[in-house]
Amino acid sequence: MPAGESGEMKLDKKKNSALGIYIHIPFCKHRCRYCTFLSDDETGDKERSLYVAQLRREIAGKSELYAAGRVVDTIFIGGGTPTILPIAEIDDIIEAVYSRFCVADDAEITIEANPGTVDREYLRGVREVGANRISFGVQSFDDGTLRRLGRIHTSREAVESYDAARAAGYGNVNIDLIFGLPDQSVGSWAGDIRTSLGLRPDHISFYDLQLEEETPLYEDVISGRLEALSDIEDRRMYHSAVDALTVSGYEHYEISNAALPGMKSRHNLKYWSMDDYLGFGLGAHSYMDGRRFVNTEFRSDYIKAGSSEQMVSSYYNNTPGDEMSEYIWLGLRRTDGISLTDFSERFGEDFMKLYASEMENLIERKLLMCDGDKLRLTALGLDLSNVVFREFV
Ligand code: SF4
Repeated sequence: MPAGESGEMKLDKKKNSALGIYIHIPFCKHRCRYCTFLSDDETGDKERSLYVAQLRREIAGKSELYAAGRVVDTIFIGGGTPTILPIAEIDDIIEAVYSRFCVADDAEITIEANPGTVDREYLRGVREVGANRISFGVQSFDDGTLRRLGRIHTSREAVESYDAARAAGYGNVNIDLIFGLPDQSVGSWAGDIRTSLGLRPDHISFYDLQLEEETPLYEDVISGRLEALSDIEDRRMYHSAVDALTVSGYEHYEISNAALPGMKSRHNLKYWSMDDYLGFGLGAHSYMDGRRFVNTEFRSDYIKAGSSEQMVSSYYNNTPGDEMSEYIWLGLRRTDGISLTDFSERFGEDFMKLYASEMENLIERKLLMCDGDKLRLTALGLDLSNVVFREFV
């Protein structure tokens, strides 16, 4: 039976006072050729300062609605390129959160960094104002690939930035990589993984490129300047990365993420576990008490808004069926899968009865496996995760 059709369903989400905070910085130095993120490369210092001032207002406004009884245990400053901001503005943003929310002593505070925008002194400054985790958008260690992607840094600069972060005292560093790129060879991707492992970051994210129509990289492929990768090569790259990371002591804990023991991204785990989070800034998403809401994507509207509520462009109250389906497909992104007991405690429903026909189909096609109390994607299911998720939407 599809989720949400039972009128009797009991929504019994476990109450958890922990709260994640996401802050979006929609500015970049130069637009990458594959990028569809909400970010602008044509703004000046004045516009960025105005944006930071409005962020502070939003943090103050939303804190009045949502801070009571909550402890913030993760803050993630993402973008765009947060490290385009001066340290004083990053300080302003973090200080605004601390002044309005109760923040746990051991909160994970991540900032995304473009290797082309930082040096050791800057990284040390960002650490001094509170960041304790840094996530580098490296994407590749191959200079030809970086050029094709329109990145502003070289491979050497990425390594230097990583070393600078370690020298500045960061004990928790992530490297983002992309595979499945036009003209990328399996050998070049293996080199990216090898170089990453040589640096020994605490966490590695490896994303499969989604070639989007409105990007210059898409035009390169359509015009024949670059050749798209076949699905077989793409999957070969994915599994070779998983194997290499696992052999090197990383736990492959989510479809596109691996971490050394104890170093999983606590913030991102909130998304896959349906824990509450508040988003601030342009286009930022929030999920609070079963309600999803999203801020406007128009910067002029965001800057003009007279209250944090006016910054929100839409609200949606999840139905019990929405909650179940999101719990399933987000939870299945984690390689340890979802717990049937947890599902039943959370929703008051027996998963195997509710989804009997879907389960029979997916297990027979070897896309899902049931291992005691756990339901998880198989190796084939990792390749065809969207096929599985569609069954639960
Ligand atoms: S740095 Fe990131 S957000 Fe900025 S243009 Fe490149 S991919 Fe997009």
